[in-house]
Amino acid sequence: MKRFRTRMEPVRVAVVGAGVIGFSTAVCIAEVLPSCSVTLLAERFSPDTTSDGAAGILFAAEFPDIPLERQRRWFKDSFDHLLAIAQSEHSPEAGVFLSTGWQIFKDVPANKKPFWSDLVIGFRQMADEELKRFPDHKFGQVFTTIKCECSSYLPWLKKRFMKAGGQVEQKRINSLQELSSSFDIIVNCSGLGSKTLVGDPHVYPVRGQVLKLEAPWLQHFTRDSDGKTYIYPGIHSVTVGGTRQEGDWRLQVDEGDTKSILERCSALEPSLRKAKVLSKWVGLRPSRRNPRVEREAVQLNGRQVAVVHNYGHGGWGVTLAWGTALDAVGLVRQCLHERRPQAKL
Ligand SMILES: Cc1cc2nc3c(=O)[nH]c(=O)nc-3n(C[C@H](O)[C@H](O)[C@H](O)COP(=O)(O)OP(=O)(O)OC[C@H]3O[C@@H](n4cnc5c(N)ncnc54)[C@H](O)[C@@H]3O)c2cc1C
Repeated sequence: MKRFRTRMEPVRVAVVGAGVIGFSTAVCIAEVLPSCSVTLLAERFSPDTTSDGAAGILFAAEFPDIPLERQRRWFKDSFDHLLAIAQSEHSPEAGVFLSTGWQIFKDVPANKKPFWSDLVIGFRQMADEELKRFPDHKFGQVFTTIKCECSSYLPWLKKRFMKAGGQVEQKRINSLQELSSSFDIIVNCSGLGSKTLVGDPHVYPVRGQVLKLEAPWLQHFTRDSDGKTYIYPGIHSVTVGGTRQEGDWRLQVDEGDTKSILERCSALEPSLRKAKVLSKWVGLRPSRRNPRVEREAVQLNGRQVAVVHNYGHGGWGVTLAWGTALDAVGLVRQCLHERRPQAKL
């Protein structure tokens, strides 16, 4: 007698976006939810995303309306995930490694311990002796965190995604309607693109210009607490910055910014006056009062489609990518549970 087997059709998931948020989310879904077939679609891939140019230092400011415990979890999940890579043989290929340095303040801050101070390694206040090298600064913190260079990390994540059965497609999506007949769940990781793709008026650019310098003698990072001046040594060069220009959409290098960056960074680290400028880059941080990590049911072509959003990480996307990706996986899982089982004989 012929026997029939019940087989579940895979749930078709589209992830829009190939930056650090899109690839982290796509990898997590493909690895954690085997009942899904995952396709990542994006207009731009590495090396042409915002994520590619980010300094990639793990560090965060507080978002005003998200419970601090959730923000701590995002930070911790990301830190632990990247620390495991930094401590493995994958570290050089993935571009993920430990980095030690100083955050310095011109005035003593009201909050001397950021919410992530116990999640990084060896966080402590700088001693007066250590602060002497920064005569304009009154207070400082020393710690070891992680630097994640997305120009290496994104190709590494892409390989991991393909190994987990994921597929990628280069395509601009003008409207979610375009995806509604081919996919059951849409995960939106389009960063600044969400302004038009899902019509979110709350997303805006914060322009950042950085330079890459040849200065292999520098081993420690230095960050001024205003977030506008920083020196981050990396594998092939030192990233120096920067600017934080809200609402500024210009992607061209501004030579006024170049001069100002070199002056500010050389004031903190005089040896940089001798360093060769290797490249200049501008990126637009996909900013929002709070990142949007939530789901909604959207009516597309007469059908209700589950959409999970994960965008708007501003200047902290590399820092929070893995943590928010895990939250997004939880939301996709909820969508799966709510779908009626589709058994096929
Ligand atoms: C100068 C600078 C320094 C930074 N330094 C740090 C740092 O040290 N630490 C840190 O944590 N963060 C840092 N950031 C922030 C970080 O770069 C961002 O938070 C992060 O890159 C956001 O990732 P994302 O995947 O959301 O966006 P993106 O990298 O911009 O990716 C968006 C993706 O969506 C795709 N997309 C958009 N619209 C569409 C559409 N309609 N159809 C198809 N595809 C679409 C794009 O093509 C792209 O693939 C820095 C940013 C800048 C500019």
